[in-house]
Amino acid sequence: MQILDGKLVAQAVKDDLKQKVTILKQEGKKTPHLAAILVGTNGASETYVASKVKTCEEIGYASTLIRFEDTVDEATLLSKIRELNEDAEVDGILVQLPLPKQISEEKVINTIVAEKDVDGFHPSNIGKMVQGQPAYIPATPYGILLLLDHYKIETKGKHAVVIGRSNIVGRPMSILLSQNSPTGNCTVTLCHSHTKNLKELCLQADILVAALGRPEFLTVDMVKEGAIVIDVGITRVEDKTKKKGYAIKGDVAYETVAPKCSYITPVPGGVGAMTIAALMQNTYQAVIR
Ligand code: NAD
Repeated sequence: MQILDGKLVAQAVKDDLKQKVTILKQEGKKTPHLAAILVGTNGASETYVASKVKTCEEIGYASTLIRFEDTVDEATLLSKIRELNEDAEVDGILVQLPLPKQISEEKVINTIVAEKDVDGFHPSNIGKMVQGQPAYIPATPYGILLLLDHYKIETKGKHAVVIGRSNIVGRPMSILLSQNSPTGNCTVTLCHSHTKNLKELCLQADILVAALGRPEFLTVDMVKEGAIVIDVGITRVEDKTKKKGYAIKGDVAYETVAPKCSYITPVPGGVGAMTIAALMQNTYQAVIR
């Protein structure tokens, strides 16, 4: 069994971007600038946004963090996005999800201009991705592809089972793995909450992507010997022995599943680290394009 070390690969991606940004600066070109919008004070969202801003600093990007109270109205938020759309200094815009109930995530995603949609959630980017045209690919699936590519994992002809069909993880992942590309060409089964024979399908998987948000859902009896397991899940589970009062759990029962796999991503240190690296890659592309 080999661990797919997201931290290590993410660092390699970041180091490469750092070099590229240094060159941009030396040539007098524009420094990539990411604007992040955070609404409210959700603990996990705070952590994610802080980590994205910190990574910008690490690489040498400019970044702007814009905060709103969780009572902010939709019109105010959309107006801010439009302002950022027009701002030539800003190359990439991200709005940290989830958003409070009074705000439509769909409207927010649709308001960010596709050219600055470095999260890859805009319908225009999703449409292009589906057709294999150049587009921003949603950061989490993109990060997983970078990881598969780094470890030179052959995907061609394999049966991939993706659990979870969200617009930001499961569904784009299933599309990308089925595409005619070096990290695609899989036969893909997309599973969700209405899938009846989930265990049976998982046992047929050469590649298993767990993205459902249920801690330690995927157990050893659901995994074929030698499978490649990608754990996307991140859930905070109360743990009084920890300083923060919680532990981070993936969707895979790692301790028992890992020995049965050929490759597996740990949580933390797997897909999460790659997601940020992929976002940084998209932000660089925003300048280059
Ligand atoms: P979501 O809640 O939008 O979607 C979950 C999906 O899982 C749904 O499509 C649902 O049909 C499916 N599902 C739920 N219960 C199921 C069951 N019992 N059997 C089969 N399918 C089931 O979640 P999401 O936004 O895709 O996130 C999934 C997980 O990934 C969460 O833990 C989230 O925190 C994590 N996540 C991690 C990263 C990262 O960078 N590592 C990024 C995004 C999301």
